[in-house]
Amino acid sequence: MTSDGSARRPGRQSGPVIDLHAHSTVSDGTESPTVLVEAATAAGIDVLALTDHDTVGGWEEATRAARRTGLTLVPGIEISCAVGGVSIHLLGYLTDPDDPALMAELAHARESRATRLARMVARMAADGIPVTYEQVLAQVAPGATAGRPHIADALIANGTIRHRDEAFEVWLAEDSPYYVSHHAPHPVRGVELVRAAGGVPVLAHPFTLTRSRGADEALVEQMYAAGLVGLEAFHRDHGPEQIARAEALAERFGLLLTGSSDYHGAGKLNRLGEHTTDPEVLDAIERASSGVTTIVRP
Ligand SMILES: [Zn+2]
Ligand SMILES: [Zn+2]
Repeated sequence: MTSDGSARRPGRQSGPVIDLHAHSTVSDGTESPTVLVEAATAAGIDVLALTDHDTVGGWEEATRAARRTGLTLVPGIEISCAVGGVSIHLLGYLTDPDDPALMAELAHARESRATRLARMVARMAADGIPVTYEQVLAQVAPGATAGRPHIADALIANGTIRHRDEAFEVWLAEDSPYYVSHHAPHPVRGVELVRAAGGVPVLAHPFTLTRSRGADEALVEQMYAAGLVGLEAFHRDHGPEQIARAEALAERFGLLLTGSSDYHGAGKLNRLGEHTTDPEVLDAIERASSGVTTIVRP
């Protein structure tokens, strides 16, 4: 840990602080894009990627805020993919926000998520868990992507639990009887869509400790063949074993390794800058993009 309490990569004491994964109220974060950018600037973050789930809806607001505070902003998304019932998250940096194929896929995913939440809540309520769909919708900001964290927020608001993690541990996990899957592209398709939109695909928290199952080496190889550029190795869901697996794959395929907080505001314990990305890696991400969407520098 550094003096300001943030965990940094070993051996890196200076240079810009680069955090390439954060959420706003446009998906399931608790801070608006403006407040998120202000919080990141105040926390000493030099470069922040806004990566809301399945939407670019926060980019404009975050860009205006970043220009005001002097933060460097990397426009991004986190696409919910799935294979064999396992949820896989794919980060896409610097994608073209007007790419029709990618935008159509994201719109489909958002619609499917909305109806799926209603089905999950119905199953929970039928089992006596005190939550209604109206309470869940009350937790979703206008135009935001609704997700399982909003069910958790409804349970916090009505006093059933104190923190989102409690709901995920018992009711909302993929192996829970209340879990309902939603439309999500295969991760290889996700990589193809991001590349076709001029963006840079990075597999988010591949070998996650806290979710029921993550990716495996064979899937990473398939995604690499489709154009995967990097792995998010340094993340709070990864321990030494998961980092070692990511490092071995990076060595084998020449993939970049990123580090990020996956910050959600007050909604999760993740702190801004708790894991960071090396400047050379960010440079490589920028070079790998088509240049249609660019990093917003002050
Ligand atoms: Zn994720
Ligand atoms: Zn995330």
